[in-house]
Amino acid sequence: KKRNPGENEFHQAVKEIFDSLVPVFAKHPKYMKNGILERISEPERIVSFRVPWVDDQGKVRVNRGFRVQFNSAIGPYKGGLRFHPSVNASIIKFLGFEQIFKNSLTGQPIGGGKGGSDFDPKGKSDAEVMRFTQSFMTELCKYIGPDVDVPAGDIGVGAREIGYMFGQYKRIRGGFEAGVLTGKGIGYGGSLTRTEATGYGCVYFVEEMLKDQGKHFKGSTVVVSGSGNVSIYAMKKAMELGAKVVACSDSNGYIYDKHGIDLNTVIQLKEVDRKRISEYVKEHPTAEYHEGCTGIWTIPCDIALPCATQNEIDEESAKILVANGVKAIGEGANMPSTLEAIDVFLNNKVLFGPAKAANAGGVSVSALEMSQNSMRLAWTFEEVDAKLHEIMTNIYRNSVQAAAEYGHPGNLVVGANIAGFLKVADAMLVHGVI
Ligand code: NDP
Repeated sequence: KKRNPGENEFHQAVKEIFDSLVPVFAKHPKYMKNGILERISEPERIVSFRVPWVDDQGKVRVNRGFRVQFNSAIGPYKGGLRFHPSVNASIIKFLGFEQIFKNSLTGQPIGGGKGGSDFDPKGKSDAEVMRFTQSFMTELCKYIGPDVDVPAGDIGVGAREIGYMFGQYKRIRGGFEAGVLTGKGIGYGGSLTRTEATGYGCVYFVEEMLKDQGKHFKGSTVVVSGSGNVSIYAMKKAMELGAKVVACSDSNGYIYDKHGIDLNTVIQLKEVDRKRISEYVKEHPTAEYHEGCTGIWTIPCDIALPCATQNEIDEESAKILVANGVKAIGEGANMPSTLEAIDVFLNNKVLFGPAKAANAGGVSVSALEMSQNSMRLAWTFEEVDAKLHEIMTNIYRNSVQAAAEYGHPGNLVVGANIAGFLKVADAMLVHGVI
């Protein structure tokens, strides 16, 4: 905390990992001796830069851009870009730190990175978003490349923003380096299933947890927060598996539809028209809209999938979920549960799929996109989906195994952290002190 004052989200992420690693350090003193903890929690590099752009009124605006290149022990830096007014060094560092272990867990050769800006795409015209992203990429392009650092989307960065950034990168660098960004459109090097990957992957992961207890999505009631990329496809897959999704949200409030959410309306409102979720009730008058985000966790459900943002489930919300009989949590978002909320779930025997395992489907398919770009081939939707399913199942199995091996059977927080850590730490050991 002294070294990184005021970076609360970063401290939270580091504490969660370090607490989990106690049994690893007890068993293998070599990691302590070689300063792995000190090195792994210090980014290899952070760049912070000015992003000037001109709005539609001709006024000059200035935002701040970031890229943290956290760890490249097992592959090029890989992680999304977030455009949201809350973005600061602490948030980018927590996300980049988590990404190291998540990427390792996928079994693919990718290191950890993250970036973004405090730019808010909400309420901006397409032309403003384009001018901003072009300015952002004009600086970012100096630090990235297909074998160096490969950004993707995150909150506020979807197909439109990736398209503008790819265009600007191509224009500045010359040539067509498809592998420099992932989440690209299908027409210019993107992978089928990438859009669906994080949401689908999260549901595949939770289905594995449920299966081990003889339970399933089929017939269950599900609450999903958010109504963005991760949320929409988590809802879609949960519905396909026979669940009833009764609620979702945005940053203003949530909707509750006891008949089951009509996903087409949500997609039209949020993805196509870029409107607010509150408008859902205009088309579905029997549904309810409530202002505020945390109220969504008071809706009784069997499975809760937080897919919006960090720290959206606090201790109190966790207690309400437990009192209402929740059986499983799958974290689609990054760090959506506070440390206190996680304790509530684990102490009450709720199946808990932590973010770095449950939401690793997105980056997994991003890595598959990089493979397809390198091979100059494109796999079918079914091929990529089958690989995604297999990866999520492997992440689950490896996390279960690591948890048991290090004395915390059934605790997937500990299991995922340890399984992700070991591969990176071993690579760092053989690379020497760098
Ligand atoms: P989107 O921008 O597509 O959607 C985010 C959703 O969450 C929107 O509904 C948004 O509401 C809501 N939201 C954002 N910020 C807040 C906030 N402060 N309070 C309440 N609600 C909020 O982002 P994604 O779906 O891509 O990302 C969601 C989460 O999943 C993030 O934590 C991200 O890091 C994580 N993730 C994403 C991956 C991906 O592949 N996209 C991969 C792995 C993790 P509104 O519409 O009002 O902004």
